[in-house]
Amino acid sequence: AETVRLLSSSQVINSVVNVVKELLENSLDAGSTSIDVKLENYGLDRIEVRDNGSGIEASDVAVMAVKHYTSKISCHEDLERLETYGFRGEALGSICAVSEVCVTTKTGADDVSIQYTLDVTGHIVSQRPSHLGQGTTVCALKLFKNLPVRRQYYSNTKKCKEEMKKVQDLLMAYAVVKPGLRVTLTHNKAVVWQKARVSDHRAALMAVIGAACMANLLPLQHRQEQPEITIQGYFPKPGCDYTSSSSSSPDKTFVFVNDRPVHHKDILKVFVSVQCKLLNARFRDPSCRRYPTMMMNIIIPPSTVDVNVTPDKTQVMLHYKEAVLSAVEAMLVSLYGAAAK
Ligand code: ADP
Ligand code: MG
Repeated sequence: AETVRLLSSSQVINSVVNVVKELLENSLDAGSTSIDVKLENYGLDRIEVRDNGSGIEASDVAVMAVKHYTSKISCHEDLERLETYGFRGEALGSICAVSEVCVTTKTGADDVSIQYTLDVTGHIVSQRPSHLGQGTTVCALKLFKNLPVRRQYYSNTKKCKEEMKKVQDLLMAYAVVKPGLRVTLTHNKAVVWQKARVSDHRAALMAVIGAACMANLLPLQHRQEQPEITIQGYFPKPGCDYTSSSSSSPDKTFVFVNDRPVHHKDILKVFVSVQCKLLNARFRDPSCRRYPTMMMNIIIPPSTVDVNVTPDKTQVMLHYKEAVLSAVEAMLVSLYGAAAK
């Protein structure tokens, strides 16, 4: 049973960035407006995510890291109106299987926070009062200590640095869709990146990509019925050449489906093909096809999205994929069409 647990867990939790993603999503699901992510030795020695969210009720603590426990859905129908990032009750338990976990939590009703130490099966082995404010702090120590091959993979500093860049990109993506979120990333006690709480999406995107990049973008919204699709975002202004290598803008292409950062190959293909058709001949040279700095949030009824395709929930299956892709195309053609003529 130990081995099976380890194998299935290490599939859900396969990297440092994965751990951070799951903990961050839990914090957001708990309504947090402030999240601090702290890594030590690139997350291999310690990953800590501290939030100011709802905290975990004492009655839930005993089961929170037990496999498939979730407080977020209670029946199959709930999946159809899913508004939380989590729903499988898999993350905490999996993190326990591949590291040493302790959770400190305090709800609004609790007098003091309690720190719980969990074992590999997600059961509480000890607890003691601590001094933190409302919210939850999860620490995962010695990640992959029981998976030597994976640990070995990270013995390379270059790999570690790549992984940390991914953590930062991940935090940036959530920072873009959550303007009200204050977030920091710390590595070995030095702040690597942070974003303050701001009031709207525009300010959030600006905080992430910088004012200079923001100046090249245009806000756009597209709404249609049957199927119901809303696309909101900031797109490169017509004629803006983001393909030139001299451009100092970092590639920050943020695509979300219902506020969930997603892998966006098909959607970006539409973007590139519209650009190819309408605008820039240089696009026909594949080596010039860099993705632009932009942000697009596709909002569709939760019942028409399946986020359960891959363990990390970054691939989505859309019931009306063609309709969504053609809505994206229509919107881009309306933006760039005039300029192309
Ligand atoms: P899921 O997110 O799919 O429900 P997880 O294993 O990630 O599953 O978390 C299990 C449960 O632990 C959650 O349903 C929630 O009740 C609780 N939990 C975990 N992290 C937090 C947090 N930061 N704040 C409040 N509750 C949390
Ligand atoms: Mg979760």
